[in-house]
Amino acid sequence: MLRIEILRKDTLFILLHMKKNDIYIIHGTRYKELTKELLEAANLAEDIGDRKKKIALKPNLVCAKDPSLGATTHGELLAGTIEYLQEHGFWDITIMEGSWVGERTGASFKAVEYGRVCDRYNVPFVDLQKGSSHAHDAHGMSIQVCDAALAVDYMINMPVLKGHCQTTVTCALKNNKGVIPNSEKRRFHSMGLHKPIAHLNTVVRNDFILVDNICGDLDFEEGGNPVVMNRILGFKDPVLCDAYVCDCMGYSVDDVRYIRLAESLGVGSADTSKANLIYLNEDTLDKSRFQMTRRVKALAQFTEPKDACSACYGSLIYALDRLNDTRGLPRNARPVCIGQGYKGQGGEIGVGSCTACFGKSLKGCPPKAIDMVKFLEENWL
Ligand code: SF4
Repeated sequence: MLRIEILRKDTLFILLHMKKNDIYIIHGTRYKELTKELLEAANLAEDIGDRKKKIALKPNLVCAKDPSLGATTHGELLAGTIEYLQEHGFWDITIMEGSWVGERTGASFKAVEYGRVCDRYNVPFVDLQKGSSHAHDAHGMSIQVCDAALAVDYMINMPVLKGHCQTTVTCALKNNKGVIPNSEKRRFHSMGLHKPIAHLNTVVRNDFILVDNICGDLDFEEGGNPVVMNRILGFKDPVLCDAYVCDCMGYSVDDVRYIRLAESLGVGSADTSKANLIYLNEDTLDKSRFQMTRRVKALAQFTEPKDACSACYGSLIYALDRLNDTRGLPRNARPVCIGQGYKGQGGEIGVGSCTACFGKSLKGCPPKAIDMVKFLEENWL
């Protein structure tokens, strides 16, 4: 995996043209501005091309929960994307989504306060639960897809990076379940989700993927245990996106069957070793803007953070959750150190290059959760 650091915006915007194996990463809490900076760096306007194109934003509005709980896409990402598009001369913009079965999309729309975004930028919202749909041949599987979603010229998929009770992780590929009618969502569940999700992605658009990695849930799509990462990610390839999400949450790509299936159907590549990681700024210190829930606190008690960056610390929480699931965490284990406060200091065990002087330390800035899992299995448990 190639890591490219870009901290100077002035050179960045002239030189870069986003490729399918690029992953753009930006950190911080100014979510709207960071969204615009990422889209500028990825040169989205050039990728879209014709200013007359119909563009849709597809957030995750799975249920009526505030984004701070880890289930739904933050409105600031929509606001930043719309501002960017309008400033570049794109005016045919729609937000569209259909919540999961059992929740009215209208209730979710109110809970996340997207009405303000729609009013401010004069952008309509389309409730896909109410629209028409037709069957399409999705690489040998007939799937009903909402007509409105297939009528656009450019789709910006805006999932939340989070855990899922059935598929373990959810991000770009599964977020597209929001563009099928409720009857089809039920059928997907009866088929075990993986195969139909992979096939669905052979017919729906994934022109750009803007991932809300601000505080996605530990392991449940409905939220409740947010893990603060304060990151926004950009991809062109939905399969690469979901494979990278596995790395970030401590899973192997093979743990999430629909990723390999989608890859075999030609949707994209799951090979993260060939990805270019393009960091647009440095990670930010975790100021614990969000309260930890009891479950996250229970994992955090195995850590000793000192000025840890948000994404680095969030990765450690995901890694500890994986270890807890597979082996259980020993009550009397010595805490795992993490954070810039350990630079140049000695200690027993730590993760991240800030703890390089420790007896046992995992390299990386930040290290991936999947690597933390392996390192802690071998050196800590
Ligand atoms: S290794 Fe240190 S500087 Fe790098 S992300 Fe982790 S805490 Fe931040």
